[in-house]
Amino acid sequence: MSSQQLLVPPPAVLWQPLAIPDRLLLGPGPSNVPPRILAAGGRQLIGHLHKEMFQIMDEIKLGIQYAFQTQNSLTLAISGPGHCAMEAALLNAVEAGEVVLIAVNGIWGERATDISKRLGADVHQLVKPPGEYFALKEIEEALAQHKPSLFFITHGESSSGVLQPLDGLGELCHRYKCLLLVDSVASLGGAPILMDQQGIDILYSGSQKVLNAPPGSAPISFSERARKKIFSRRTKPPSFFLDMGWLANYWGCDDKPRIYHHTAPINSFFSLREGLAILAEQGLENSWKLHKENSLYLCAGLQQLGLQLFVKEQEVRLPTITTFVLPEGYDWKEVTTFIMNKHAIEISGGLGPSAGKVLRIGLMGYNSTKFNADQVLHALKDALQHCHKNKL
Ligand code: PMP
Repeated sequence: MSSQQLLVPPPAVLWQPLAIPDRLLLGPGPSNVPPRILAAGGRQLIGHLHKEMFQIMDEIKLGIQYAFQTQNSLTLAISGPGHCAMEAALLNAVEAGEVVLIAVNGIWGERATDISKRLGADVHQLVKPPGEYFALKEIEEALAQHKPSLFFITHGESSSGVLQPLDGLGELCHRYKCLLLVDSVASLGGAPILMDQQGIDILYSGSQKVLNAPPGSAPISFSERARKKIFSRRTKPPSFFLDMGWLANYWGCDDKPRIYHHTAPINSFFSLREGLAILAEQGLENSWKLHKENSLYLCAGLQQLGLQLFVKEQEVRLPTITTFVLPEGYDWKEVTTFIMNKHAIEISGGLGPSAGKVLRIGLMGYNSTKFNADQVLHALKDALQHCHKNKL
């Protein structure tokens, strides 16, 4: 044994019990985790290569196929948050020098641009102000101009509260020999998305929004067209961890025996399995309807408080995350802090291009109830009465 003295003492704070306050998470995510999913995540582990784990992974795959409405065999969950799925999509589908077109109307297009540039892609952006969506005609013009091999767009723009219409987009992209990549982290389960029928080639989501599981696993799926492209690359994907060849094998999506790639976050997968099971039991249509009704209820309540909704047209408001504008003179940070400190409710300010412009309220999955909408409206009313209003 070493006789050397330890230079770093054990931190005294770790002798204290773990302290976690009770909070209603009505920001853009994560959402509160319901007891059934919490219980699943707290179960004892099994080995990540045990046959029972493979069975659970197969069940997750079926759950994702249902949630995405796809028959794609290359469907799995990435071990990591939504950003990992975003990177997995781009770094498998894009090779250095390829042209990529990215729709930017909030932070997610900006992030996809950053990732694509790191991959050495020839990146072009189609930019709109936050709060607006893209019309097919505008997209078609950009496809014709840049001739990309991949087009990225966000279905639920959580930084601005926009729900991007997707009908006709897959067909359009395929006419221009381009793959369609869609981010549905903030919209899956909250608004209709039909991967196969809408011709989406790559779709990914996250676990911590409507699915109500803790963050850390991210559903993803690839169409046959996307599969062909990624499996006929000239170069290896620049990440071992996110290499879809390896992950396809780990998830039983090829015909070879499964071999060790990484140690899966086993209890994150238990939780994701339960989140998907709840969605399957509830039914997608019911889930979409519930989110729509509760978001309309919240929007009406915000308007009654005299607040202005950020997204002008109702049909393109994201049912999971609602954005609104604070009246002149209020400081958004003071309002969110007041609501957190006095009411133990999280709501959030803007992000990226919407920073300083909006406040965001999320009603997702288990949290999407009229009761929660009333709670946050009550807290907001209180904040508007008690927070400092600059008279200048
Ligand atoms: N895309 C969208 C639309 C999101 O809302 C988020 C999370 N807020 C992400 C991607 C990234 O997900 P994560 O934070 O899990 O990495």
